[in-house]
Amino acid sequence: MWKILILVSIAAVSAEPRAFHGEKVFRVFPQDSSHVEVIKSLAENAKLDFWSPDSPDLVQAGKTADFRAESHVSLDVQALLEQSEIPYEIIIDNLQEALEKQRDSNIRAVHSYEKYNDLDTINAWSANIAAQNPGLVSRSQLGTSYEGRPLYLLKVGKSGTNKRAIFIDCGFHAREWVSPAFCQWFVKEAVNSYGVDSQFTNLLNNLDFYVLPVLNVDGYVYTWTTSRMWRKTRSVNKNTSCIGTDPNRNFNAGWCTVGASNRACDDTYCGATPESERETKALADFIRANVGRIKAYLTVHSYSQMLLFPYSYSYSLARDHTELNNVAKGAVSALTALYGTKYTYGPGGTTIYLAAGGSDDWAYDAGVKYSFTFELRDTGRYGFALPESQIKPTCEETLLAVKYIANHVMNNS
Ligand SMILES: [Zn+2]
Repeated sequence: MWKILILVSIAAVSAEPRAFHGEKVFRVFPQDSSHVEVIKSLAENAKLDFWSPDSPDLVQAGKTADFRAESHVSLDVQALLEQSEIPYEIIIDNLQEALEKQRDSNIRAVHSYEKYNDLDTINAWSANIAAQNPGLVSRSQLGTSYEGRPLYLLKVGKSGTNKRAIFIDCGFHAREWVSPAFCQWFVKEAVNSYGVDSQFTNLLNNLDFYVLPVLNVDGYVYTWTTSRMWRKTRSVNKNTSCIGTDPNRNFNAGWCTVGASNRACDDTYCGATPESERETKALADFIRANVGRIKAYLTVHSYSQMLLFPYSYSYSLARDHTELNNVAKGAVSALTALYGTKYTYGPGGTTIYLAAGGSDDWAYDAGVKYSFTFELRDTGRYGFALPESQIKPTCEETLLAVKYIANHVMNNS
């Protein structure tokens, strides 16, 4: 009896997600290389969690950087920034409060397009929307995650032979919750628009959309059950207790040469080998098997309001640079037209920083010409704690950009 009680209480304790009371998110504006060095050493000593850029190694003079500091080091971090005369602001004063406010939807339904849905809810939704729309949506399994979860893939489009396709994935990085919300939104809009909206109907008649609502399913579950700020996969690494690989550093595109870490404890760990992760391998295998048909690859992340295209592993321009730049420009202007949300766009390397092993570069080099990375809202006011009330406008504006790209692909590929 006592044993049972003890087991139950342990389970109850471990089921409680980690809290972020008193943790702050700082935005720093390093002016020169000495500021950059101070931030890098601070990152090491105070175990800062970098939100943007993805790692302290990528901090540059003249560019802002956002990071989370745990409560016990927050005051020291602030004091050191003052002492070193590094301009900064505190963008989130109490992360726990921001995370509680993030769930600001009053919708009671289990699944909603305007709420953050957990993985079980997303999986039930995808089964249901396929069952309800047999002529338009079908569900298959792309693969299985490290922890054994199915990776469900939706195919959205009117049946036809030799159709060209666009691949869209969400949920690479576990804590970027608005990303899976967009993939769900996209499928809903496709279903509701077919036969009603002539432009979307035309797209669905001519193209298939493969939609992967959550790639990093293990990480996503972990952000719900254990730690909201988790980013990587959940695979076990050799010779260390540090868990996980950055799935967007794990592709065979300049793998681990720049902007990625070979240390398993880092958030941008590139993995033991390219495609070491079951999730990235499943995605790459699918694209390789269908590369003649897949004309566009869109991968959805957050945050920073950017639309990026190859290359990120080098500064050299893509063979199709001019066209990709024009498509990005058109997509961004369609997006901005709705709510005035400002986006920047361009090749990843020059627009943000060099980062090797990304899925967009890999897909492009594999032969998928229209390869883009979205970084959705916002620019750091909420960061990964984007309130649910922003899901709808974020998805509405993003859909306009995706439709712009899809139209270009339909007419030019
Ligand atoms: Zn990301």
